[in-house]
Formats: sequence, structure tokens, C-alpha cells
Amino acid sequence: METALSREETIGRIAAAKKKLGRDLVILAHYYQNIDIVRSADLVGDSLQLAQSASKQHDAKYIVFCAVSFMAEMARMLCRPDQRVFHPDLEAKCPLAEMAVIEDVERAWAALQTTGKRFIPVVYVNSRADLKAFCGRNGGFVCTSANAKKAMEHVLSQNAVPFFFPDENLGRNTAHTMGIPDEEMFLWEPYNDTRGNSAAGIAGKKVILWRGFCYVHTAFKPSDVEEVKKTYGDISVIVHPECVPGVVRLSDHVGSTSFIKNTIEAAPAGSRWAIGTEINFVECIREDNPDKLIVPLKAWECRDMAKVTPLKFLAVLENLIEDRPQPEVAVDAGNAKYARVALERMLTIG
Ligand code: SF4
Repeated sequence: METALSREETIGRIAAAKKKLGRDLVILAHYYQNIDIVRSADLVGDSLQLAQSASKQHDAKYIVFCAVSFMAEMARMLCRPDQRVFHPDLEAKCPLAEMAVIEDVERAWAALQTTGKRFIPVVYVNSRADLKAFCGRNGGFVCTSANAKKAMEHVLSQNAVPFFFPDENLGRNTAHTMGIPDEEMFLWEPYNDTRGNSAAGIAGKKVILWRGFCYVHTAFKPSDVEEVKKTYGDISVIVHPECVPGVVRLSDHVGSTSFIKNTIEAAPAGSRWAIGTEINFVECIREDNPDKLIVPLKAWECRDMAKVTPLKFLAVLENLIEDRPQPEVAVDAGNAKYARVALERMLTIG
């Protein structure tokens, strides 16, 4: 693939390749992708919407998934075996997803079992396939930021304690919305057992969390919220639940990427918004809502989502047309079987 293509040439060749591949191809893209990829995609969504969509692509022979790689793995697990799934850069991994590895999770799980209480694992979709499979095998769920509350409520309704990993802030913010205070949550320390993991500490807790975080959303600070309110006065601040609780507390709204999009689209013309999430998404929303004032709480890009470039995306499409060999997304069959169980449980709770 030439690296000297202009932006216009790249967009033009993507459109031509798309046309040539026709109904054989479906392009799924996450909201945090480069705007030229977003504008070329057949479906743009957050993790939940993309998972739901991947399971319904009955006609397509090829699914090209533009996002970090765990999302493409999810599509691989949910679509038919004869469909082929491609990703423009399999090295585009989510650092949050790498913050929980199966050995540490199994060690924590074994320790939790010694307390005599019933736990149900809930893994955030930003996780490796083997952790999703772990949940499938142990009666648990996958969840996204759009349905974390439903998943936690479901576990509590079973008189069990959610063991929620790997994003501490999503777990903590979700539990707060359910009226669970910090004192009733236990933070499992995956890297250092001497920092307080103990059966005595876990006793009486309603939620077990994991020390993991997203470097993009934790970049927003409470002072950023105060600053934007001081600068713009009458402005609503809306943030993603991977932000730290101090930011969420000062903001006017909190919710998944699709919640943020829907809230702003439904807002009256002339309304003013500061958005605390990934900058590519904020730029797209701003372009789509010219009748509103929209500013980023801070311009912060996910460097890992950005590894998927329009040129790499174009290369996948043109390789398909020319029938050139290229890597496909693959998931170990054993993990896929049980991860699908946990994903399907998620899709049934919505
Ligand atoms: S924004 Fe955060 S959670 Fe999302 S892919 Fe990037 S690092 Fe991972």
C-alpha cells in the first residue's frame, strides 16, 4: 500500500473498494475511530451496538471491524464460522483489556471461593477472550458500559456478589448509581496481595472490583469540569463512566458512548455541551450537531484506536478484492465456545 496517498485519494479508493465488494462486505466501526473510517462504515456504534450488530450480519461474507482488536474478536465469536473477520491492525489492543490476565483472575476467584459467599463474575467487554470464557464457564456475564447496571442488578437479584473486572471506575460508578457506597465495595489488588486482599476484607461487601483503568477517560480531572463550567457558564457536562468518580460527581450526565450521542442529538438547538470522552467521537458529534455548542472536556485521543488508520483499512479492502492473503481475526475454539456463552447472556439482558 502506498503511503503517499492524499486524504481525498484514500477516501475515494475506500469508496470504490466498498462498491466493488458490495453486499459481500460489511464494515463495523467504533465511535472512537478516525472520522474518515467512521464515515465509510456501514454501522458505527459502541461496544454493545457493535456486538449486537455482529451477530446479525447474515448476508456478509467479510466483516471488517475497525476498533481495538478485542472488539473484532467479539465479532468473530458472534458471527457464523463461514464468515471471515478482518481487522486493519491486530496490534491495536486496548490497554485496559490487558490489565486483567487469566492467571490473576483465577487466583482471585479461588480466594473468593474460600469466603463461603456466592460470587458471579462480570467482565467488562474490554477484556481478553479467555476472561470472557472464564465468565461463561462460571455462570457470569460480559457487560458493556451501556448495560453494566443491568448486569450488576441481575447478579444482586440472585443473592450473589458481582466480581467485576477489569475497569474499577465503571464498576464503582455503576454501583454508585445503585446506591451502593464505597464502604460496601472491595477493591481486589491483582498485582500485590499484600495491599489488602483478604477474606476478612471481603466479608460484608456487596461488590468486588478490580484495579484497572482506561488511560483516556482517567485523564479527565475534576478541575477540568470546574474549568469548563467557569469558562462557559451555562454548559452541561456529559462524561463516560470510565471516568473517575470525582469527575462523574461534578458532571451533569454520565453514560455510555451511545447514551452521550443520543442525549446530545435529542437536546434543543443552542444548547451547550462539554463532553468527557475520546476526542474523535467528540469531533464527529460536533460535526453532526452544528446547531449546538460542543466542546471536549479535554482533547484526549485513544492512541490505540488511532493505530487503525484509513490507509490500513483501505489495504484490507483492496486485499479482499485482489484476493491477497492477509491475517484474519481468530479466537481459540475453547475460549470462543464459553466466551460466546457469556456474550449471549449479556445480549439476553440487553
Ligand atoms: S478509550 Fe480506553 S477503554 Fe477504550 S479502547 Fe482506548 S484505552 Fe481502551
